[in-house]
Amino acid sequence: VVELGMPSRSVVTTCAYCGVGCSFKAELRGDELVRMVPYKDGGANEGHSCVKGRFAFGYATHPDRKLKPMVREKTTDPWREVEWDEAIRTVAEKMRAIQDAYGPSSIGAISSSRCTNEEVYVVQKMVRAAFGNNNVDTCARVCHSPTGYGLKQTFGESAGTQDFRSVAKADLIMVIGANPTDGHPVFASRMKKRLREGAQLVVVDPRRIDLVRSPHIQAAHHLQLKPSTNVAVINAMAHVVVTEGLVDRSFVDARCEGFDDWARFVALPENSPEATEPVTGVPAEELRAAARLYAQAPNAAIYYGLGVTEHSQGSTMVMGMANLAMACGNIGRDGVGVNPLRGQNNVQGSCDMGSFPHEFTGYRHVSDDAVRTVFEELWGRSLLPEPGLRIPNMFDAAIDGSFRGLFVHGEDIAQSDPNLQHVSAALAAMDLVVVQDLFLNETARFAHVFLPGASFLEKDGTFTNAERRINRVRAVMKPKTGKHEWQIVSEIATAMGYPMAYDHPSQIMDEIAQVTPTFKGVSFELLDKLGSVQWPCNDEAPQGTPTMHVDAFVRGKGKFVVTAYVPTDERTTSRYPLVLTTGRILSQYNVGAQTRRTGNVAWHPEDLLELHPLDAENRGITDGDLVTLASRVGSTTLRARISDRMPPGVVYTTFHHPVTGANVVTTENSDWATNCPEYKVTAVQVGLAHPL
Ligand code: SF4
Repeated sequence: VVELGMPSRSVVTTCAYCGVGCSFKAELRGDELVRMVPYKDGGANEGHSCVKGRFAFGYATHPDRKLKPMVREKTTDPWREVEWDEAIRTVAEKMRAIQDAYGPSSIGAISSSRCTNEEVYVVQKMVRAAFGNNNVDTCARVCHSPTGYGLKQTFGESAGTQDFRSVAKADLIMVIGANPTDGHPVFASRMKKRLREGAQLVVVDPRRIDLVRSPHIQAAHHLQLKPSTNVAVINAMAHVVVTEGLVDRSFVDARCEGFDDWARFVALPENSPEATEPVTGVPAEELRAAARLYAQAPNAAIYYGLGVTEHSQGSTMVMGMANLAMACGNIGRDGVGVNPLRGQNNVQGSCDMGSFPHEFTGYRHVSDDAVRTVFEELWGRSLLPEPGLRIPNMFDAAIDGSFRGLFVHGEDIAQSDPNLQHVSAALAAMDLVVVQDLFLNETARFAHVFLPGASFLEKDGTFTNAERRINRVRAVMKPKTGKHEWQIVSEIATAMGYPMAYDHPSQIMDEIAQVTPTFKGVSFELLDKLGSVQWPCNDEAPQGTPTMHVDAFVRGKGKFVVTAYVPTDERTTSRYPLVLTTGRILSQYNVGAQTRRTGNVAWHPEDLLELHPLDAENRGITDGDLVTLASRVGSTTLRARISDRMPPGVVYTTFHHPVTGANVVTTENSDWATNCPEYKVTAVQVGLAHPL
């Protein structure tokens, strides 16, 4: 076989891009990875894949990768390669010195939704047990933190309700603030199959995404709302359901609480489709028709994305969707539910693993004495009952001088977070920035220590996808850096005086199962036997839980929450008359650190600014012109694409390339409950860029 140039062995592992969590057979010739073949028994993908998972793995061997640890005194100094011992000692000594000088809460860490559950778990353990504080946050802060908050309040669990398979039973699919064909392509295929079979489609989005009109698919309704008005739209749909007698009374009476107050609120005249039309821009009759379709379908399912969460009312909207689903009895069986389409491969997992400053694993608050005692006894350390700093709080505290040392694990905050001027100032103000990553990314410009990370092809562990499915990640090759990422973190904790040691990630998962009721039955052995498992997996559900809230909600009764619409503070003015919203494209991925280092870059070599023909004409802009995009906080230059996908007054871009840097213009406005940034709404001006 080898003589013919064919693969000589294969390893089943999980794609490290999006939250669909496709399984692949990585086929090797000797030590060389030659191709990724979609795995037919993969629970999430059943043999399908997209262009990222199948082809975009070349970054793992890209010459830009750094394989040796590096240190420098000042960020203006050149990097100096060092051995692992010196790098780890440097991090530990400097972190301790900062704490001695500025107090125990002056340091913290950001964990990564790109990394395995086991790696995320050891990062939050390092912070809580070795740093001695709760200053740990995850990049889920800037994407799906409102999902965690909103679904916990209403249903009692911070996770989506269904598995992907469930979409095959939906009669009505409502896609809100998501672009599945670009963001979650393999799940989009499942959705499209069901739509071609005859299910109806409602899309709620300011942009005319491909799904609205694609071969053999035509949305029954596209509610093309103005950005930031999600909550007004969902309340108006609820108004129709309540005032037209479309409520599923038997479901509500048996399984929910708080209905009467909520129903009185949504029935108010100001929440009617007619009253809200001037605010939302959605024609009242179209909204009424969409609401009736949702309420009257035997099974209606909601799928949503960052167009819901990344708003100042992101958490409110998550609860608004939960309210609507409960009112129509659309919870607890196949074909229904409220289903977040998670962006990164392990967003769900990084949240599950306790890397929020207020929660241990399994979403249990740090102030809960009984829970804290479990961790204190196992870890042999007393732990703080007060929540630590969220990511934006860390930046603010760095500017005021009280937060001085940050460990950034696999996230490029200097490209991905909003108002990059503020982020840069915060990083520049710190005494110690440690970056653990594959590449010298934008954040590494501010770093004093660089710790080379491993690609997913070099890792053993697990990722948890958007349907709570825990998938095995299996190493195709040894870490090129000589160290596993969980080893690096454990050794830093040990060097700081808190001994932490594991022989294998399976031991870390065993510890997670020991302290987390929803993971009690999870082990590598079980995962290898079943292929994957959806949490909760414990004595009550030893084979896992594809559908949640079947007979009762996790919190007992489902809770209706009154969700009043509050306009965003981000207003257009004559100086900034347009609204910018952002998203991503099929071939690229988030900040592009990986996909830009593969052949995929040829398909999308730069970020483009989509604007409506009328807005372009008013500014003398033609397709392909270089334009300046300016907001109250910053400006950038990029190329224009004239498109009627956006309505007049709204412009759109992606954020895959650091040169164009859309987050130079996004603001620090954020969700009231979780501080998730309001990436989707920025008042901007666009004009022809002046030649240099
Ligand atoms: Fe990977 Fe997502 Fe594509 Fe599946 S859909 S191959 S998980 S990027």
